[in-house]
Amino acid sequence: MTANLYALFASRFPADKTACCIETHYGQYYTWGDIERASARIANLLSSLDLPSGARIAVQVEKSAEALILYLATLRAGFVYLPLNTAYRAAEIEYFIGDAEPAVFVCSPQNFGWIAQIAFKAGTRHLFTLDEGEGGNGRRNSGSLLARAMHHPDQFETVEKQADDLAVILYTSGTTGRSKGAMLSHGNIGSNAQVLQQYWHWQADDVLLHALPLFHIHGLLVAANGALLNGSKMIFLPKFDAAKVCRQLPRSTVFMGVPTYYVRLLTHNGFDRDTCRNIRLFVSGSAPLLADTFAEFIARTGHTILERYGMSETAMLTSNPYAGERRGGTVGLPLPGVSLRLMTTDSNGDDVACGTDDIGDIQVKGPNVFHGYWHMPEKTAEEFTADGYFKTGDVGKLDRDGYLAIVGRSKDLIISGGYNVYPKEIESVIDEIDGVLESAVIGIPHVDFGEAVTAVIVKRPEAKLTTADVIALMKAAIANFKVPKHVFFAEELPRNTMGKVQKNVLRERYGT
Ligand code: AMP
Repeated sequence: MTANLYALFASRFPADKTACCIETHYGQYYTWGDIERASARIANLLSSLDLPSGARIAVQVEKSAEALILYLATLRAGFVYLPLNTAYRAAEIEYFIGDAEPAVFVCSPQNFGWIAQIAFKAGTRHLFTLDEGEGGNGRRNSGSLLARAMHHPDQFETVEKQADDLAVILYTSGTTGRSKGAMLSHGNIGSNAQVLQQYWHWQADDVLLHALPLFHIHGLLVAANGALLNGSKMIFLPKFDAAKVCRQLPRSTVFMGVPTYYVRLLTHNGFDRDTCRNIRLFVSGSAPLLADTFAEFIARTGHTILERYGMSETAMLTSNPYAGERRGGTVGLPLPGVSLRLMTTDSNGDDVACGTDDIGDIQVKGPNVFHGYWHMPEKTAEEFTADGYFKTGDVGKLDRDGYLAIVGRSKDLIISGGYNVYPKEIESVIDEIDGVLESAVIGIPHVDFGEAVTAVIVKRPEAKLTTADVIALMKAAIANFKVPKHVFFAEELPRNTMGKVQKNVLRERYGT
């Protein structure tokens, strides 16, 4: 039997293929039959290009139903899908093209000029454009990809794939050093999607409100794959917009977002229990959900957000339970099939026991764990232990019941005067202070201590907090070596598109 992900999705849609699969913000409807025919045309086009097996199809386009169809067509034709963040500009695209050597690049028409120069210089054989779709002005999807695909048949026999064959390369966001291409196979992605379908109790009549970008693991492999695997309808929003989300929530049963989405919903006028009356499940991930947001969401809507944890290299690793207790400040329990352990950061590398409050490096193994970094065998070897565990680069602790709390990235660990300081622990204490909206703790070079614990704080608008207040309160709450040596107040924290705080930016800003 083929392990091609596309075949797995196709098997989940009812045989008559008339059920709506995607409804766009512009009121276009795509049944599974439409998607099958459109993806067949694109798969035929890609196959006609005489590409070697394993060829990469790099895609940097705005979100649209057609962009998702292109992903499906790539899988169907047996090539490797390589989505790129729409924010990337020339220097970044040059790096990705040089590194991944895609045979095909699909871009937005407005970027064609500069991308063509980079792509052709690098030897990319085919460059197509794909527009974001009908923008309410009567203009249908355009671009050379669809124009060319229209001349190909709407039937295509999905290419046979083994579980270990590559399906997708996801470039990590690369906050330190160069971004690395995580190679995920059909087996990695398919197994994870099936586990999540069971774990999150996907139901026959579920409707997913899809507001995430399609170039990231969250929007593509967790959200879109979840709905596809369940044969469910998705309502596609081009991007997150609190007012539009509130309008569509009553028609939906599942919503997935990064923590910032939930923060913004809570500040949106009119977002209440009634808006969420038909929602079965709210999922959060990709960055830590603040305890305040978790609690405020329950108070406002009666819904407990389910937080999960994963990364481009491994897909999803842990999740709070669907039916059991969802614990705020934790990312839940290892998913079925995932073996997860915490190892002490010292050279002994011992296992850290549950419920000890001890912190350790998170290591994982499972059918979802990737096949390595593209073109980086040494880096890949470094990131796996001798017994086959992947070193996630995250540090965490396990409570008595085995719930995992993420303490931060190991590279964000601060070593001050020889002591290890975990930023998350300090941030949690600062966030408890009256008048603090949120905070980020970083280490900056210090002559005596090596690194000085430094806090960057966003105050609530009405708060009159001073540096001296913060330091006095911290001294009363935690050991002296953890108390920030510097406190800065900022209007907001720098975040990337997935809502992650960019600590590298803060280190640059406050470190000199
Ligand atoms: P990405 O590959 O862009 O999805 O980034 C993965 C990283 O995001 C992980 O290694 C974690 O550091 C972080 N992350 C993902 N989910 C969570 C979560 N629920 N809480 C805290 N950090 C998270």
